[in-house]
Parts: sequence; C-alpha cells; structure tokens
Amino acid sequence: MRLSKRITNINGGGPDPWEFYYASKAAKAAGRDVVELTIGEPDESVDASILEEMRRSAAAGNTGYAPIPGTDELRDAIASRTLARTGVPTGRENVLVTAGGQAALFAAHMAVGDPGDRALLIDPYYATYPQTVRACGMVPVPVPAASGNGFLPTAEDVRRAASPGASSLLINTPNNPTGVVYPRGTVEEIADACVDADLWLISDEVYDTQVWEGEHFSPRRRADMERRIIVVGSMSKSHAMTGFRVGWVVADEEVIGRLADLAVTTTYGIAGFIQDAALSGLRLGPAFEERAAAPFRRRRGIVERLVAKQNVVRLIPPGGAMYVMLDIRATGRTGVEFAENLLARSSIAVMPGEGFGEAASGHVRVALTVDDSTLEPAIAALLDLAGETAAARERAPAGRSVA
Ligand code: PMP
Repeated sequence: MRLSKRITNINGGGPDPWEFYYASKAAKAAGRDVVELTIGEPDESVDASILEEMRRSAAAGNTGYAPIPGTDELRDAIASRTLARTGVPTGRENVLVTAGGQAALFAAHMAVGDPGDRALLIDPYYATYPQTVRACGMVPVPVPAASGNGFLPTAEDVRRAASPGASSLLINTPNNPTGVVYPRGTVEEIADACVDADLWLISDEVYDTQVWEGEHFSPRRRADMERRIIVVGSMSKSHAMTGFRVGWVVADEEVIGRLADLAVTTTYGIAGFIQDAALSGLRLGPAFEERAAAPFRRRRGIVERLVAKQNVVRLIPPGGAMYVMLDIRATGRTGVEFAENLLARSSIAVMPGEGFGEAASGHVRVALTVDDSTLEPAIAALLDLAGETAAARERAPAGRSVA
C-alpha cells in the first residue's frame, strides 16, 4: 500500500539531526561514560510540589476527559503569565493548551497554511521545524541568518524569501540552537516585514525565561501583530517539565477557536491531572522560573571563560537559552566531523551545527545541561581537540587532509 506523500516527506531525507543523541545514548547503554551535551533536556528534576499536585489531582478522580482547549484555570494562568511578561491584554479565549510546544508548532502551521504553501523559517533552526512544516503539507523555506551577523536574521532576507506568496514566518527568540536573543530592533523589523508581505508570524518563545543579556521582546507586543501572530510557549524548559508535554498557543480568539477544532481531531485535550500539575507549576511564579533558569546562565559563564583563553574556537555570544554555539571552522572540520572525533576521543556528545541548517555548518551546539563540574572539563577537552586539530592542519602539507 502506498503511504501518503505528506507523511513520507516529513523527514525530508537529509541527515538525521538526532544521530549524535542516539549514538551517545547507545554508547551510554553499552556502559561507556559519555558526557551528554546534545538535547535540551534540563538536568534539574521537576519540583516535588508539581509531582504532588499531579498525584493529588489524579487520586481525586481527575482522570477522565478534560476540557479540550485546556481547563479554564490553566488557560487563565497562562493568560495572566503572558500579560505579566509582555503587558499585552490576554484572556483565556486567547489560549489553547497543547501537548508541548511541539504540538503548538504543528497546530500553528496547520492554522495558517494550506498544502503547498511556503512557510519561512530562520536558519539555523530548531531541528523539528522543517519536519513540522512538511507534516502540514507545506514547503519549508529557510531564511539564512549568518554566523557573521551574530545569527540574526534581516528583514530584507525575510522580504526576499516571502515573495511570492509565502504564508508564514517562524521565528524563535531566545534561540535554539544559537543562544542568540533578538534585540528589539530586529524583532520590530521582522514584524514590519511580516506586515508588508502579509505573513503570519509564528513566534516560538519557549525559552522566554532564559535571557541573560538584553530583554526578550515578544512581537505580540506590537498592536499591528494582534491578528497575524501565533505565540508558542511551553513548560518544558521553564519548569523542567519536558515529559509532561504541556505547552500552549497564544493568539487571537478566532485562531484559538479553530485550533480547538483541530485539537478535537488530534489530542482531544491534555490529561486533567497533567494540566493541574502544570497549573501548580505556573503558580510557583516568576521567582521559581528565574531559579530554574539560573544554572544555564552560570554555565554560559564557564564556557565564556574557557573560550576566552584560546583563539581557535569562536563563541557566538549567547544572550539566552540553554545552549552555546561554537564556531569550529578554524579546525578545518565540519561540525559533523568534529562532533564524531569528540565523541570517539573524549566521549563527549555535542550536536553538529549541520543538523540545524546550512547556516550553522562548521559549528557545534553544546547543551548546558550537565552540572558545572562535568561541563568545565568537557569544554576544556573540546577546546583542546579543536586546538590540536587546527595545529595539525597547519602542519599538514597543503591539499592533504589530516585524519
Ligand atoms: N521550540 C524550541 C525552540 C525547542 O527547542 C523545543 C524543544 N527543544 C520546542 C519548541 C518544543 O518543546 P516541547 O515540545 O517540549 O515544549
């Protein structure tokens, strides 16, 4: 039997971005001591009070079908958090609870594009983005944000890629994989480009609590964005609740209504006891969220300090998020080759930049998700390998590559 083009196209046939994650998991399972710096899984465990609320809610019988767009209480809490963080009036009618930010990204694209429509995304991108777009039957169009420009997109490039007839642009700030936080000016210019080109703007803000420099400016703050923006949020990073699968969409009331129709056909809502657990997490407030983000800020400092001592690897200044992007082009290696060598030689697993789009080739992404005392020697070993590889390259006769 023939499977649909839509589903067989999802993975796009390119290199599997998760390859290094699987390789490091397999090596660990085989008993090797691997330092795992691949995926964005916070190392803190979920707060005990959240677990307790999940248990209490389930034991109290909250195990049946839950309201499909989300419980009123959770939608209210997400709306209040959005208002508090952005100043934009937001009510429960603007909120739909989803199975993580990932399901929100899928729902958002389903809402704004038809099969065959072009959906713009900024390259480097979070690795699921092109698949998500293709799963909706749309065509992903990468808009490169160059390493030399601090991985910031330009409005001009967005305008160029939008023409003719793209339906949406997906942005992510603070950014995975680059750790870059878009300055307000960049967000404003991109918002202008969306207005000019009549694009929906899908703004992935799942790292909104992880900002180390500057401020996180949500484009929803612009009045002219109100009816063309869909914001994606999640509890995965802010509350270390990756496995709970709780995220949300914030948008205009009409969009939320349509997305609720979609949810009837997909998840049929999120488990009530999980929603109660999420609500208790949000009620811990901004001070809790700040505490949960603090280790990543501290670890960024460790990487900055070590990188400053050498001149082969360049750090893309990370304004936020739980990653750092390292430019290793001076080693003469691709990100894939370098990551392979690092895993083989030092049992340290990082993600090659190539998995995040062409603009990140020759880079590796390091997730700051191990404790400081493990991170520090791992970064030192990475920098040593880069230094040695670059030195061997200089010694090698021209045209000959070094194994
Ligand atoms: N967006 C970005 C940029 C991410 O990095 C992630 C997870 N790594 C997600 C969305 C989805 O997260 P979740 O589905 O766990 O909420």
